[in-house]
Amino acid sequence: MIVMFDAHCPRCNAIRLLPISRLRSLVNSPLGIEVTLECYCGAVFELLLGQGPAASFPGAPAGPADVSGRMSPSHR
Ligand SMILES: [Zn+2]
Repeated sequence: MIVMFDAHCPRCNAIRLLPISRLRSLVNSPLGIEVTLECYCGAVFELLLGQGPAASFPGAPAGPADVSGRMSPSHR
């Protein structure tokens, strides 16, 4: 089984599929699992995984449960 994270990289400004080898750290928090990932471009950013509705956290980056329907508004 290959574990991949689909994470929004703030530097690429795009969703990147990152393999588990790109995982920097993993911390259990009351909100869920805080995952620190390193993108191919070198940017390091955090991602909140878990059962909770990630969309309800205003400051949180787009999580896996969240990215399908809601992209960050680009120039349009
Ligand atoms: Zn990137």
